Amino acid sequence: MSELPVPLNVRAEHQVVFERPTSAPPPTLPVANGTQSFWLRNPNVFPPPTYGSDGPLTRDADICIIGSGITGVSAAYHLAQAFSHDQTRSQPVSAVVLEAREFCSGATGRNGGHLTAYAYNGFRWLRQLYGEDEAVRGLAIERYTAAEVFRILKENAKVEHVDFVPGGRVILLFTAQEHDSARADYDAAKEAGIDLSDVEWLSREEVKARFGAAYPAVVIPGNNLWPLKLVSVLYNLAANATDNFNVSLHTRTPVTSISASEPSASRRWSLQTPRGTIQCSYVLHATNAYTAHLLPWMHGPDGIVPTRGQVIAVRANTPDALGRAGFVGNDGLEYWFPRQNPELTRQTGESAANATTSGQLILLGGGREATKDRGFEFYQADDSEVNPEVGAVLRRFLPVVFPGKFDEDSEVEMEWTGVMGYTKSHEPFVGPVIDPHDPDSRRKYEGQYISAGYTGHGMPRAFACAEAVAGMIRADMTRERWQPPQWFPTHYLTTQDV
Ligand SMILES: Cc1cc2nc3c(=O)[nH]c(=O)nc-3n(C[C@H](O)[C@H](O)[C@H](O)COP(=O)(O)OP(=O)(O)OC[C@H]3O[C@@H](n4cnc5c(N)ncnc54)[C@H](O)[C@@H]3O)c2cc1C
Repeated sequence: MSELPVPLNVRAEHQVVFERPTSAPPPTLPVANGTQSFWLRNPNVFPPPTYGSDGPLTRDADICIIGSGITGVSAAYHLAQAFSHDQTRSQPVSAVVLEAREFCSGATGRNGGHLTAYAYNGFRWLRQLYGEDEAVRGLAIERYTAAEVFRILKENAKVEHVDFVPGGRVILLFTAQEHDSARADYDAAKEAGIDLSDVEWLSREEVKARFGAAYPAVVIPGNNLWPLKLVSVLYNLAANATDNFNVSLHTRTPVTSISASEPSASRRWSLQTPRGTIQCSYVLHATNAYTAHLLPWMHGPDGIVPTRGQVIAVRANTPDALGRAGFVGNDGLEYWFPRQNPELTRQTGESAANATTSGQLILLGGGREATKDRGFEFYQADDSEVNPEVGAVLRRFLPVVFPGKFDEDSEVEMEWTGVMGYTKSHEPFVGPVIDPHDPDSRRKYEGQYISAGYTGHGMPRAFACAEAVAGMIRADMTRERWQPPQWFPTHYLTTQDV
């Protein structure tokens, strides 16, 4: 068997490099000319990419949401839901989503398309950092997210629209170390009472027979979908939910700074953009990798580190080479899934005849560990370029893992980058904006909230984190006390005093 083209067992080194102090500058605003991802090409949905980028700018809103990815738009969705039953207000609550580039053009529009809740993965890490109850919640929020997203899609007849495929996830275990670590997490989660009856362990031979890769594996429930289409569904549900809540959207409207409004003003905050200033009472930072641009103390390993990921779209030799499942390997550093059928492929512009006979299209991401001696792509916030070193290992990866199913010299059909927001604990920051170096920051940033830093694993968490933070904003507006839901990990909170 040929050797895998990526270094293996590098998670510990990844963490050590992450935690090093940095001399890198804080992230800029998202660059204007990002590479084009598979998802951003022809999504054909409402709102279109440049919606609200010209014409009059909304000048005043109760809530400004910065960022139109899954976090920002989910927050709008949850606010709409929360206020839809509120008959006490004389005026509708107003929100505006401000997006630096095109609609959903950040990490959500550039990722691998997975929506998979971890079944047991990382359980011991969370238990060691935060205790068993929090570790259980750390997995519960993911199952909750996956179930809620599916419920919403089903109730609104959008399952097919977003290409939702519940094909499961195959976790390939390339090394004995990976195998033992997975087994230890599985045992610990099971002992803590987590139901793992839907998790299947497969031997090397079973995996070879079923999938054509000669490694042991674990199969867990998992889904893939078209993330931008999901976000557009949520936006439309938010916009049309109720007369009690209005949401508008301005793309190509970066927030360049935030300042306190004049004491006489009716709103607390002024948001500066190149198109003018917007006044609001509440601000939600849903800017993920770019958080430190507006909140400078979030720069560095104690905050959120922009980390560039890379993805290629490549064809297998046959139309059904990998079936329906999504895959990960090498401790999750590589992830890939097959697009399902000619119908789906046709939406990307390919002719029907060609799609039926040509090889299955696979989206494969990862390869950052090829740059481990140059920093794993940490502090790289420029998604207008690809890293050739990463691209080279991605091109060699699938032919080695699945011998005979891919040609080494197959043309890559698309290649793009996107920027993730990594944190030291791997857990996001959710709640009021707090500067830990400033004891007065709670008062200074009153009305500002954040939900960001999902460490490359936001699809099964951001929707629910946005629900939590939207609940906090609503509770503040209605002078109630916010109670964390049973599924919410309280260690995500920026302060326990919410
Ligand atoms: C290559 C890649 C692969 C990934 N693979 C997976 C995976 O397999 N599974 C998984 O769960 N997750 C994965 N992720 C991570 C996942 O995509 C993210 O965690 C999630 O999309 C974060 O959503 P978000 O809305 O918080 O951030 P984003 O989608 O990045 O949205 C933030 C938005 O804020 C905008 N913005 C930033 N600053 C400003 C400003 N000052 N003014 C106005 N707008 C601003 C940005 O333009 C952006 O659109 C991957 C990410 C990448 C890039």
